Amino acid sequence: MFTPEELRIPVRGAARRRADIDLLHRFATSVQERSRRMAGFPVNLEFDYGPLAPFLSMHLNNAGSPGQASEYGLDTKPFEQAVTAFFIELAGGLPGEVFGHLAHGGTEANLFAAFVARERYPDGVLFASQEAHYSIPKIARLLRVPHVAVDVDERGAMDLTALGHEIGSRGVPAIVVATIGTTSRSAVDDIPGIRRAASAAGVDDVFVHSDAAFGGPLAEYGQPRRPWSFPDGADSVSISGHKIIGSPLPSSAILVREVDADAIRRPGVAVGSDDDTIGGSRDALSPLLLWYALRELGRDGLAGRVRHCLEVTEHAVRRLAEAGLNPTRFPGGNVVLFDRPDEEVMSAWHLLDVDGRAHLSVMPHVTTDLVDQLCADLTGGRA
Ligand SMILES: *Cc1c(COP(=O)(O)O)cnc(C)c1O
Repeated sequence: MFTPEELRIPVRGAARRRADIDLLHRFATSVQERSRRMAGFPVNLEFDYGPLAPFLSMHLNNAGSPGQASEYGLDTKPFEQAVTAFFIELAGGLPGEVFGHLAHGGTEANLFAAFVARERYPDGVLFASQEAHYSIPKIARLLRVPHVAVDVDERGAMDLTALGHEIGSRGVPAIVVATIGTTSRSAVDDIPGIRRAASAAGVDDVFVHSDAAFGGPLAEYGQPRRPWSFPDGADSVSISGHKIIGSPLPSSAILVREVDADAIRRPGVAVGSDDDTIGGSRDALSPLLLWYALRELGRDGLAGRVRHCLEVTEHAVRRLAEAGLNPTRFPGGNVVLFDRPDEEVMSAWHLLDVDGRAHLSVMPHVTTDLVDQLCADLTGGRA
């Protein structure tokens, strides 16, 4: 919508030019317009962080360990700890046994988990399903850990028989990423089943990372609850802040066992605090945004949000079936695949293509009304 010429940074700057403020307003209006029909991506758009605007004029930095002040001294670490404590509790971790911090998104969270797993098992092989997030093969390359993409079953979850064969044929420690809510179908890998498969294959050195970026809250509060967290056998858990919670900045809580964090921690090197994160300077705004959102929501509110998503998903499945569009869904998931409409409808609704089918992701801002509007567009007014 803007030409590179319009956005070019000049040699001689000019403070707060009226024209620039107008340009930003036009950009904001266009983003708001395009956001109205966001139905494809697993992000929640229902939030208002207006009261936090003054923090954009402050420099805060959470460099170093979330539990220790650094020499820099201006940080939001107490808020980061409060947010992390909420996620530790949600994931069934015991305080003192689980260490957590906020990473700059799900990819960095997965990288941290794979890092501590590799430190525990330097000869380990990383196993993840073919439908795991695209960050996983990249992380394996970064860390130079051999990576095996395990087949999925017809619902899109990791095939445990295939996993058992892959683990058994190598006979070395296994680092297994369980995806809790795949991006394509919201399929949930079975963590207790993964542990049983490894043990039946004769491998007892197993590290299971629960990549619950998208589906952690759905697994916890869905009916029935699905195993996904520490009591279910995870060694580490990641949950994103910009997906179901809804934050304008990407962020992700990464939770690992304290013993695994101890093994990578370097004392005192991060501007006077311990270094047990991947980032150097770390985002201090996200902890405030998430704290504000979670204080308003509470655990009950999060559970309610999951119920809303699942109710609207059921509505969507009914309406899409009535429209003859063959909806399919992982049981208990909030993603519905259906017959692909034309390009215009795909792009207007930000729908993704999954194996030639259209992908609807029912996040908290998606209502039954929005689903009905989508169905009207899909059927050209026939529905
Ligand atoms: C979104 C997502 C990620 C990665 O998150 P980014 O914040 O985009 O880096 C990882 N895993 C799963 C399952 C996801 O849905």
